[in-house]
Amino acid sequence: MFVSLPACLEPPARRTGLSLTLNRTGLSAGRQENVFGKGFYGTGTMMRFDELLHPTPKGLYCPPGDFYIDPVKPVDRALITHGHADHARPGHKAVLATRQTLDIMALRYGADHADSTEIIAYGSSRTIGDVSVSFHPAGHVLGSAQIAVCCNGRRIVASGDYKRRDDPTCISFEPVQCDVFITEATFALPVFRHPDDRQEIQKLLSSVVQFPERAHLVGAYALGKAQRVIALLREAGYDQPVFIHGAMQKLCDYYQSEGIDLGPLQPATLEKGNKGDFAGAIIVGPPSAFADKWARRFPDPIAAFASGWMQIRQRAKQRGVELPLILSDHCDWDELTTTIKEIAPEEVWITHGREDALTRWCELNNYTARPLSLVGYEEDGD
Ligand SMILES: [Zn+2]
Ligand SMILES: [Zn+2]
Repeated sequence: MFVSLPACLEPPARRTGLSLTLNRTGLSAGRQENVFGKGFYGTGTMMRFDELLHPTPKGLYCPPGDFYIDPVKPVDRALITHGHADHARPGHKAVLATRQTLDIMALRYGADHADSTEIIAYGSSRTIGDVSVSFHPAGHVLGSAQIAVCCNGRRIVASGDYKRRDDPTCISFEPVQCDVFITEATFALPVFRHPDDRQEIQKLLSSVVQFPERAHLVGAYALGKAQRVIALLREAGYDQPVFIHGAMQKLCDYYQSEGIDLGPLQPATLEKGNKGDFAGAIIVGPPSAFADKWARRFPDPIAAFASGWMQIRQRAKQRGVELPLILSDHCDWDELTTTIKEIAPEEVWITHGREDALTRWCELNNYTARPLSLVGYEEDGD
């Protein structure tokens, strides 16, 4: 089901005093082909999709609104899709984001991460310069949003990172009708088909039953993945305390304060007890903690890792992962192609990963597609 949005502003018409009828069919005569797409203001106004939004070294820039989306360098005005560190950076003058994304940024960087912040609720619109923007659930992590940028009746949606499957820790992705859909391509190869996440959690629970004397160390990114793993464990009926690495405490507390039930959590500190206390326990920590002495203190630990990359056996092996859990907060191949078919935009701009395969798929399926070179985002931040 589509989200329907109010009509967009028509700034160039207002500015120039022209009255343009800008429906799709009436436009075709005035459209201009260019490197990023067709013009959408009609003859005389010369604005093209890439003039509404285009990549720059600092990030995706919107000239008529004078703002950036997920800028990788400090800017005057930033619109942030979600709290992952490669998208949400400190040091901007003004930041517009969902309340939860702003809360997460404040937790990570301190309340003074920006000179000023402004909350925007899902589904509501706001005018910035000559454009109207609105935020819509992306289903990626708590607070994550797609950003719709709208001008003169045409709309570009920058989806940030997103996934389509049901996640007990955040609101599901909502498809938004648009002319240009900017999609991530982290797992954009036909080989990537994420299995059912409930089955993956069962693998972990079965291992705990099978090896009650061993600690189970689950590597999971601190924002989103860790809480999703814990929430899925709870959903599967696991009611024992889950032990968490200190790096996850603040975000887990925040999720709990937002009403996401993670059940009993305890710090995974050895000082307070002895090795034996962790026999059969599930301990969730950031992937980087695996390399630490921290991990080696637990009794005969089984190394698990919750990531979409665990579908590649070689990666699991390289990381010394005994129990790979294929759990991703990004779309797999089917979710990407289904989403594009569902939205059916005039153009698809592809970023953040394997652009080539998805570009090719779009061409074969008669969608105009272009890889968008954006720098500074991590492919592994899943
Ligand atoms: Zn992300
Ligand atoms: Zn990302």
